[in-house]
Amino acid sequence: MGEHEDFNHDRLKHHFAQRVIHQARHVLEVWQRLQHREWSGADMAEMSEATVRLLRYAERFQQTEHIGLARSIERCLNAVLANKGRLSSELISELNLAMQRLSRTGLRHGDQLDQVFLPPLRKPVYLALEDHERALRLARQMESFGLSCRALVDAAAFQAAMAERHPAAIVMDVDFSGPRHGLALAENLQQKLEQKLPLLFFSEADTDTPTRLAAVRAGAQEFYTGTLDASTLTERIEILTRVAQYEPYRVLVIDDSRAQATHTERMLNNAGIVTQVITEPLQALDALAEFQPDLIILDMYMPECSGPELAKVIRQHERYVSVPIIYLSAEDDLDKQLDAMGEGGDDFLTKPIKPRHLIATVRTRASRARNLKARMVRDSLTGLYNHTYTLQLLEDAASRARRDGRPLTFAMLDIDHFKKVNDTYGHPMGDRVIKSLALFLKQRLRKTDHIGRYGGEEFAVILPDTDLDTAAKVLDEIRRRFSEIIYPAEPEDLRCTFSCGIAELAEGMDCNTLSKQADEALYVAKRGGRNRVEIHRVALHRDEA
Ligand code: GH3
Ligand code: MG
Ligand code: MG
Repeated sequence: MGEHEDFNHDRLKHHFAQRVIHQARHVLEVWQRLQHREWSGADMAEMSEATVRLLRYAERFQQTEHIGLARSIERCLNAVLANKGRLSSELISELNLAMQRLSRTGLRHGDQLDQVFLPPLRKPVYLALEDHERALRLARQMESFGLSCRALVDAAAFQAAMAERHPAAIVMDVDFSGPRHGLALAENLQQKLEQKLPLLFFSEADTDTPTRLAAVRAGAQEFYTGTLDASTLTERIEILTRVAQYEPYRVLVIDDSRAQATHTERMLNNAGIVTQVITEPLQALDALAEFQPDLIILDMYMPECSGPELAKVIRQHERYVSVPIIYLSAEDDLDKQLDAMGEGGDDFLTKPIKPRHLIATVRTRASRARNLKARMVRDSLTGLYNHTYTLQLLEDAASRARRDGRPLTFAMLDIDHFKKVNDTYGHPMGDRVIKSLALFLKQRLRKTDHIGRYGGEEFAVILPDTDLDTAAKVLDEIRRRFSEIIYPAEPEDLRCTFSCGIAELAEGMDCNTLSKQADEALYVAKRGGRNRVEIHRVALHRDEA
């Protein structure tokens, strides 16, 4: 009897929790829509209404985390109202943060988190591949990454599955169920849907542009050829299906006129774009390093130095060669505009400008710059930062830590006996282990930590605001969990471990020394028997002095 009541109570609780989660999803959907347009009063009202409802549900069903998040979103929205509907960079960032947290609470509602790499999606991924064996294999591998998958054998099975339940995403073979039939199938399907599903195409053979074009028209977000790798696919799907992942775009506005700069800033803020203004061009490089904008809006005529001069100076820095620079000026002489563009500018907008045009230009340019940068700074196997960029990030993090008087820890990881993995199981299996460690680190470290692939099977982690002991605890936990992963293989299943060395930035220390110390600690870990985390210890007599 008592048991029965408990059961009912649990079911009710679960039912109510689902309601809160659904409402949270709704808030996130409105937020996601806002990422593609200027924010109107009606949008804000819809968001407000959705948030109020979320708060009400969360309070009624005592979901503390949701209560807190709904309150902070409400607070932001009220602040916007009080500010005559104007957004500020602080409010945009705060809203974004709350939305990100909210998106995680929704997804975390799984129960077997310990065994998986990723928070389980609640819906399955449909795999519609011409080679059914391949689909089954892929499904199995993706499941070991925590996704649930369904391999479908032909068009009829696919349609039946669709009628039963919409998936989180679809992986569709161009030639599924007959040559180019997959294309038609997907196109047909998307047309009928109000909310398009994330769609990834695959073609075993390399394809021509018309096929890719047809795929784009059918709503493809990705097109893979040749092979399909489970972890790449898993990660892409994870990104496509997770809402509110967007970091707002960051724009540095450089204009000697405060009034003009503020005007530009408001237009951008009101579309959810974060800004920083500087009126002294000579501060531009500091601001670039500090603010890390996606894009620069630059005035043509300023007393200290002209826009084109400043653009040239900015372009002299390797790091900023690809940050788009857009001139915004009243100059309407086309020759002068072209001259300015020649000096490192990417676009020229003339004042007065309609907000819509400015926003569209900024969004397009910033989005392309982000994609490009992602390709330049990331390692293609793992998607982690490459060696060069990791060192740049370390420099930035160190100068921030010094300025704010906060701790900074640097860790180096190296997979143990990795040569043996390659020798015994083959290079592809080695790659798989590398990728899975990358994914594992991404999953388990904070968003503010930076993870780089330092070399072959070596990784580096930058942990801002973290002291040695905390870093050691975190990394040791990751080490322990990673060592528990079993990779299904022949002749027997495989397990891997890594060793790790960490060091903390001390006063007057440069980044070279810091990474050398982490490397030394890593060496100690290897010597000490591997599968362990070692801290770089400063010689004792110096501590006591
Ligand atoms: P230890 O425990 O001392 O680190 O031993 P180890 O075998 O891991 O060390 P070692 O540095 O001698 O070997 C690293 C191997 O990693 C050598 C290289 O063939 C392999 N490797 C490097 N990059 C890649 C890669 O991208 N993919 C694969 N599959 N193997 C790689
Ligand atoms: Mg190694
Ligand atoms: Mg090595």
